[in-house]
Amino acid sequence: KKGKADKKKSPSKDDYKQLYPQPLTAFADLRSTYRISGRLAENLATQGYKIPTEVQMGSLPLLLQPETAIKDVAELGGVSAVDLLAVAPTGSGKTLAFLIPAVNSIVQRRRLSEDKKHHGLQAIIVAPTKELANQIVNEAKKLSIGTGIKVVGMKKGMRVVEENEDTVQEEENSSDEEESDEDEEPKPSQKSKQPIAKADILVTTPLILLHALATKNPEKHAPMPSVKTLILDEADVLLDPLFRDQTLGIWNACVNPELRVTLWSATMGSNIEALASSTINERRRKLGLETTA
Ligand code: ADP
Ligand code: MG
Repeated sequence: KKGKADKKKSPSKDDYKQLYPQPLTAFADLRSTYRISGRLAENLATQGYKIPTEVQMGSLPLLLQPETAIKDVAELGGVSAVDLLAVAPTGSGKTLAFLIPAVNSIVQRRRLSEDKKHHGLQAIIVAPTKELANQIVNEAKKLSIGTGIKVVGMKKGMRVVEENEDTVQEEENSSDEEESDEDEEPKPSQKSKQPIAKADILVTTPLILLHALATKNPEKHAPMPSVKTLILDEADVLLDPLFRDQTLGIWNACVNPELRVTLWSATMGSNIEALASSTINERRRKLGLETTA
């Protein structure tokens, strides 16, 4: 409400409702209204997606128009990044809801950069089980066809490569048809000692990535400065006591101040709302950034 404009610190639910973008009603609007990558739009059409599900209707406009959302919300309460916790039932299409903005932002960022070199890992998707992680890899690869984006499923013993980091063996950067080998051991025939996760999007279970970061830097988990998107799928599981420390370890290794975190869950269990906002604020304090409501 206009009258409340001077009460800057705590915007009410009504304020947010007014700022909230109109729900998405058709996938075709992703191209016409939200200007997503043409190739991504094509890949969605090829797969037959027409009408978004409820969670997609609500989340996609928010995640695809960050500039507007950030600016308006910032005027209200000083929020400088849009982090999102989405709760929607199993089978409601949460995977697509987080993959579309992830793929699109990488395509757009690449378009802006002058060179075509690898700029380090851009997005991490964490899932509680290997099976789920594999499904996400498959979905992400389908959406990334023809974009040049490389999607990798994290495997045991893989090394995560950041921007400017020397790699023993330069991998070709062509996307899509990576071997989707279930083997966790590096193949004896491979030249390099260690497989390299030179990915744009890395999909992983918590422990396997955490081990890789600990191997790189035993003192403290090696930071991942290039990562701008962190997605926690089945966030209620990832933040329950069994996984919590591992998940937070990954979260805290994402040191880029522009990091955006989205959490996706079928339930509000594990106290995720409180945990998510306290983690976001704690992390921002450590990085010397303003904290958010
Ligand atoms: P959740 O993660 O919410 O449990 P999934 O992302 O696994 O759900 O999606 C369940 C199924 O619904 C998948 O097979 C997916 O391809 C399909 N799906 C997702 N979005 C749509 C849509 N807008 N229209 C038709 N099918 C969809
Ligand atoms: Mg799911």
